[in-house]
Amino acid sequence: MIAERTNLLGLPLPKLRTFFVELGEKPFRAQQVLKWIHHAGVDCFDDMTNLGKGLREKLAAVAEIRPPEIVSQQDSADGTRKWAIRVEGGGLVETVLIPDGTRGTLCVSSQVGCSLDCSFCATGKQGFQRDLSAAEIIGQVWLALKSYAAFQAGKGRVVTNVVMMGMGEPLLNFDNVVDAMELMMEDLAYGLSKRRVTLSTSGVVPALDRLAECSEVSLAVSLHAPNNALRDQLVPINRKYPIEVLLASCRNYIDRQTDKKRVVTVEYILIAGVNDQPDQARELAVLLRDFPCKINLIPFNTIAQSNYRRPSGNAVSRFWQVLVDAGFVVTVRTTRGDDINAACGQLVGQVVDRTRRSERYQRSNETEVVRVG
Ligand code: SAH
Ligand code: SF4
Repeated sequence: MIAERTNLLGLPLPKLRTFFVELGEKPFRAQQVLKWIHHAGVDCFDDMTNLGKGLREKLAAVAEIRPPEIVSQQDSADGTRKWAIRVEGGGLVETVLIPDGTRGTLCVSSQVGCSLDCSFCATGKQGFQRDLSAAEIIGQVWLALKSYAAFQAGKGRVVTNVVMMGMGEPLLNFDNVVDAMELMMEDLAYGLSKRRVTLSTSGVVPALDRLAECSEVSLAVSLHAPNNALRDQLVPINRKYPIEVLLASCRNYIDRQTDKKRVVTVEYILIAGVNDQPDQARELAVLLRDFPCKINLIPFNTIAQSNYRRPSGNAVSRFWQVLVDAGFVVTVRTTRGDDINAACGQLVGQVVDRTRRSERYQRSNETEVVRVG
């Protein structure tokens, strides 16, 4: 039996150093190889011209640089690009790039499916299949840059921000997500500042407490309700870790940061008639009165598996106004890429079959599905 080769794509610097030392090589090789993989986008040892031929051959025998495979790529009329990515074992995940002026925000998946089954989320409805490896997580950044030929010098930055808001609950895949985020922030890899890497969680409190010990990424928390009775319905993990426990854990996370000016982003999906009433906005304002946060309102994006509806623009404005009047910084997330089902909560890891398009897809601007895999 041939021993499995180590996939170097997912190894952060300390682990890559250990790999080289165990191979009987100098640890500084890790720096060189990291730059080749993540700065230059190289996936073949033969192209690593500052390594001797002997070392290149040795590496090729025991290691590999293997990104996940792109199954399809779709471009939205608004510039959003979505990839369906096949991971080992056959599952599919989705990655979305949302360009906005000089920013490019990449929405990265952490699991195939999700076990937490929030009532409004398409990913949750498909159940949990498996965790992604660190290589499969950072591989989404690698593939996005490759897709725009952005590893080449002089192209400007295509990915300026990463949000762990794709499929899955990142804190339930802790070690791999932490390794991948380390690579996102590593200067020899993607060099993003800790403010530009955001982890979004539905509230896995013990894992969030653990994250506070080892990471300084920005934190977003999926609150979606102003009280436990309603949140229990929308976000079932609330029955285990209720709002007051979750907010205390978030506060602890923020308090541990060296940079004292940071706040938590509170995500709040607005669902018509469920959690979008002015009374609920007032209740939310009281709940978050002393909590260091900004609030991001997300009008619900329809999914096939639920009867929930998106509120009217007026209902969104009313809710927003109550919070603004109470002194909060409040943004409303604009929907991007919904013509290709790339909007928040619509990611299900399906390749769109052009002969069986959904109704909303037919209504949208024609979007070509490009098969590159
Ligand atoms: N599991 C993590 C991260 C992935 S979900 C979490 O729940 O935070 C990323 C964001 O998309 C969360 O804020 C989630 O609540 C939101 N989302 C899920 N389904 C949605 C939908 N149908 N419409 C709008 N936002 C949705
Ligand atoms: Fe999982 Fe997040 Fe979807 Fe909830 S909203 S089911 S935690 S991916």
